[in-house]
Amino acid sequence: VSGPVNGADGPPTDAAGEEPTPPTVERRASRTADVGGTPVRRALPTKGRRTIGAWCFVDHFGPAGGTGPGAMGIGPHPHIGLHTVTWLLEGEVLHTDSLGSEQLIRPGQLNLMTAGRGVAHAEQTPTAAAHLRQHGAQLWVAQPDTTRHGDPAFEHHAELPEVELGPGLSATVVLGAHDDVRSPARTDWPLLGLVVRSDERASADVALDPSFEHGVVVLDGRAEVAGEEVAPGELAYLGEGREALEVRTAGPATLLLLGGEPFVDELLMWWNYVARTRAEVEQASEDWRTGDPRFGPVRSELDRIDAPPIPWSNSR
Ligand code: MN
Repeated sequence: VSGPVNGADGPPTDAAGEEPTPPTVERRASRTADVGGTPVRRALPTKGRRTIGAWCFVDHFGPAGGTGPGAMGIGPHPHIGLHTVTWLLEGEVLHTDSLGSEQLIRPGQLNLMTAGRGVAHAEQTPTAAAHLRQHGAQLWVAQPDTTRHGDPAFEHHAELPEVELGPGLSATVVLGAHDDVRSPARTDWPLLGLVVRSDERASADVALDPSFEHGVVVLDGRAEVAGEEVAPGELAYLGEGREALEVRTAGPATLLLLGGEPFVDELLMWWNYVARTRAEVEQASEDWRTGDPRFGPVRSELDRIDAPPIPWSNSR
């Protein structure tokens, strides 16, 4: 039995001294969380699993809507030390940020925001799309020390490479590469983000990088991965050392296949920040509260979101 990955459940550990997690299939229930009034299934982090490579946050929202509870409206809020990855199966979201970006995202497209030392953004279902069902995922990728203090950035990719995995099973290469097919999107750490789709009964052995750890979240339908049935609302953590993953579906299904080199640093995640120390979190919250230019203004009709009180600050 291996220890906690990235020391997430214990004291900081030196990743170089850690045992790799062997191939496994650990099914872990997502928890229900609330994001701007929208219920989400949060597959990462959960108590038993904090990261898959640099993937440190996986929210699956919908399908819901159109008008009313399905619509997304998250006012301006800050981020540090992470990339946000937004992927839709249905609906539309308008992204605005402190870099001046204003980008509508539709199903099949990627919004990738890099926070670096600091960025702020808002996300909203546009009025014209309020009648649509909203269904998608927002994920965070932790930035390594080499880039996490760097400049913020934003990328939109309207088209991404597609690969055939086997009869009836195809995938969009959202981040990283499958075989020699590489996504044009930025990555600061070796990782994989594939959206795997079947329209009918399908079965394939999906080639993997054995130096990565992997996990699967089902967004739609259900699937069997490495012999285990997986449905929306759970994560199948698959460990490291796999050359291939057997995926079977009995009908229409959409899966997120996430992977990456196990991350080296222990993360301190609080609110919208991915940091390493409490001091970094405290400084970010202070800078957001005081309107420091580290986080610029965001064009949005929605109210700015205040940081909640830092839980440890009373005891100092
Ligand atoms: Mn955000």
